[in-house]
Amino acid sequence: MLNDLTRRGLLGKSAATLGLVTLGSSGPYLLAKDSAPGTLKESARTIPLVEDCDVIVCGGGPAGIAAAISAARSGARVRVFECHGCLGGVWTSGMLSYVIDAGKPGLNAELSSRLNAMGARLTDHRKKNYDNYVYDVEAMKYLLETMFAEENITFQLHTRVAAVHTDDNNRMTAIITESKSGRQAWAAPVFIDATGDGDVGALAGCRWQFGHDKTCPCQPMSLMGIIAADSKVLEEFDNAGAKDAKDRLLAEMAKAGVEPTYAKPTLWNFGSGVAAVMINHEYGVEPFDAAQVTAATVNARRELYHIVEAMKKIGGGWSEARLVATAEQIGVRDGRRIQGRYEVTVDDVAQGARHDDAVCRSTFSVDIHAATQEANRKAAYSSGGVNAKPFDIPLRALIAADVDGLLLAGRCISGDFFAHASYRVTGNAVAMGEAAGVAGAVSAANKTLPHNVPWSLISAQLTTVRDQADQRAAAEQTS
Ligand SMILES: Cc1cc2nc3c(=O)[nH]c(=O)nc-3n(C[C@H](O)[C@H](O)[C@H](O)COP(=O)(O)OP(=O)(O)OC[C@H]3O[C@@H](n4cnc5c(N)ncnc54)[C@H](O)[C@@H]3O)c2cc1C
Repeated sequence: MLNDLTRRGLLGKSAATLGLVTLGSSGPYLLAKDSAPGTLKESARTIPLVEDCDVIVCGGGPAGIAAAISAARSGARVRVFECHGCLGGVWTSGMLSYVIDAGKPGLNAELSSRLNAMGARLTDHRKKNYDNYVYDVEAMKYLLETMFAEENITFQLHTRVAAVHTDDNNRMTAIITESKSGRQAWAAPVFIDATGDGDVGALAGCRWQFGHDKTCPCQPMSLMGIIAADSKVLEEFDNAGAKDAKDRLLAEMAKAGVEPTYAKPTLWNFGSGVAAVMINHEYGVEPFDAAQVTAATVNARRELYHIVEAMKKIGGGWSEARLVATAEQIGVRDGRRIQGRYEVTVDDVAQGARHDDAVCRSTFSVDIHAATQEANRKAAYSSGGVNAKPFDIPLRALIAADVDGLLLAGRCISGDFFAHASYRVTGNAVAMGEAAGVAGAVSAANKTLPHNVPWSLISAQLTTVRDQADQRAAAEQTS
């Protein structure tokens, strides 16, 4: 009896029950009689369901935190689910370190001035304002958790949205998450997909686009790193210092005998001998394929490590260089774009479109990184031939077309490849999140689906929330 309790014994028994020989061979394992080969039919199960909030935000990146804060400030009870161990997404688990297109009223202004009050916002000397700024990654984590506590927002880290439940009227009614707490279900009248890659929209069966079939399968990924080195050498190559810093850093790497996969290696100096670096490209990686993302992450980390080790050989200020950290999440430039009730297109960008239901205006250029190493050697990034004018993003691009009760915010909204290559930066992600949060709160409060709520109601509340944030920003500056 005793020896049968070994794993072998137990499996032997169930394999026997299933009438299959499994041990010692590497499969096929047919674990349930009615499962097709290569599949495992899960037995139906009942999981706990929680229904205690008005708005559920999936993903705690720049768009997600903005959606949660503005929904809470509009009176909604809010829950946020984030799969990594901190809030902030690309800002924190991605270690991005540089905010673009943040010269907007509202939460963008508040975040910028609160970081400044913490001594965690660093100037971009090439700019005369704070439309773009460098920030301290750890301070950003701290600030976001502080703001969530101030607004009584309930959030669960290390929790991945893994499934979606819709009713017979094609309305989203619940999400299902996986975490150390097991499988849990969460119901709410309104959901916001701020996962960056449009996971929730895809799980709900929405149509989506990815990449641009003609010019680029998809934009490359990059793994951010933090290095330590002599302060002087970091100042010398600081991208916030001078226009040609990237080309000089590339030349410096050539001296070390290395060629980065990103031909515009970028360094953001934090001061005190520490800096963030973006020096790699991982080409043609689909963010919704975990095996591909794993391979890209390991590849990128290997490249960062070798490049920093090689830089030491140059000596001088590089001799003590060290790779201090690499991001938990490789940076994803191109994810799913979920079909909305309006699709922002290259025409909107080229014409500088205006919309009555505008939630924010993107002023960033079209930023398309090379799709291959060969192309990268010619031009690390380009505008794809599109001369961008500041253009509006309408609320309709934030409302899922194929399922009811789902809003979108950040880089997964409804747009084509070229428009996305401009509005995807975090200043716009915050502004879109603000609008989605307000729309969600107003929709829940009025027991009306987001696409049926009059724009006038949403725009009035959005203005109120942004004015309040501006007042907080001003208060920070005077305190
Ligand atoms: C390498 C790189 C460099 C860039 N440079 C800049 C720059 O300098 N400045 C700038 O402003 N923008 C830059 N961008 C663009 C910008 O960072 C992104 O577009 C940004 O990600 C948009 O924010 P988001 O909130 O939509 O997505 P994300 O920041 O990706 O946030 C999504 C969040 O959802 C979480 N999540 C994902 N799936 C799930 C799930 N199933 N369940 C639960 N949680 C989930 C993620 O962990 C993440 O926290 C860069 C992007 C990359 C990749």
